[in-house]
Amino acid sequence: MTAADAHPLTLYPLGDGLGSVSLVQSVGDDKAVVNAARISFGGDSDAPLNDRDEKLIRYLLRHQHGSPFEHNLITFKIICPIFVDRQMVRHRAGVSKNEISGRYVEMQERNFTPPAFRKQAPSNRQASVEDDGTLDQAAAARVWEEAWRAAFGAYQELLRLGVTREQARGVLPLSLYTESYFTFNVRSLLHFLELRDHEGAQYETRLYARAMAQLTEPLFPVTFREWRALHAGG
Ligand SMILES: Cc1cc2nc3c(=O)[nH]c(=O)nc-3n(C[C@H](O)[C@H](O)[C@H](O)COP(=O)(O)OP(=O)(O)OC[C@H]3O[C@@H](n4cnc5c(N)ncnc54)[C@H](O)[C@@H]3O)c2cc1C
Repeated sequence: MTAADAHPLTLYPLGDGLGSVSLVQSVGDDKAVVNAARISFGGDSDAPLNDRDEKLIRYLLRHQHGSPFEHNLITFKIICPIFVDRQMVRHRAGVSKNEISGRYVEMQERNFTPPAFRKQAPSNRQASVEDDGTLDQAAAARVWEEAWRAAFGAYQELLRLGVTREQARGVLPLSLYTESYFTFNVRSLLHFLELRDHEGAQYETRLYARAMAQLTEPLFPVTFREWRALHAGG
């Protein structure tokens, strides 16, 4: 049994069986979007979603009427490297977060190691490009491994010396995994996906964004279909 089979609502975006995105709960559906929009003229109903409703969702997305998408919620449990989490927390509007506390608990020895190292992009100062064969992958892997193990060893040593957890964690690396509950509404999730599943975004964060989309799309199939069509220029 693979790690992905263990929990059908959990995906492992980084492929190491450690980093994960789990769907914890969701509220609402495509019909809730339509009803929130139709309350404007008292037209909400229990009727199943129909063609007119689907057209309305398309209209709302195309004309950036965002508020009807704010009544639906999706909660994820996300276990990600701290450097990915630092990008996630930049998304302030319509996003709630609670994270494990390195003051309450000892941080686990869970570290992300890239399966392949990338090179700095020559033109875009933020971006990376795949190794063209000139990067010494083995040497990079060795340096990475030595660095995080030394840092984690120092953390454990500080704890052993009696230093408080809240100070000792200061030596931990950005590649260490942290875990949080994140709740997005559908509007804030689509905004997040537009920015973070984008070619300009950090590759590892893109993988998390795609996993979040993959878990959410079946819950809001019409919204996602129309949103994808809009961004494909359809
Ligand atoms: C590829 C990429 C590179 C990045 N590089 C950097 C970087 O180098 N340094 C850096 O610091 N950040 C960087 N960021 C983070 C970026 O600046 C945003 O903070 C992040 O993407 C969240 O976007 P947001 O503010 O639209 O989202 P949210 O915070 O969720 O806000 C959603 C929307 O609400 C509105 N809004 C929210 N807060 C305010 C406010 N205070 N005033 C007015 N309107 C508001 C805006 O319309 C905003 O688009 C980068 C992001 C990406 C995707």
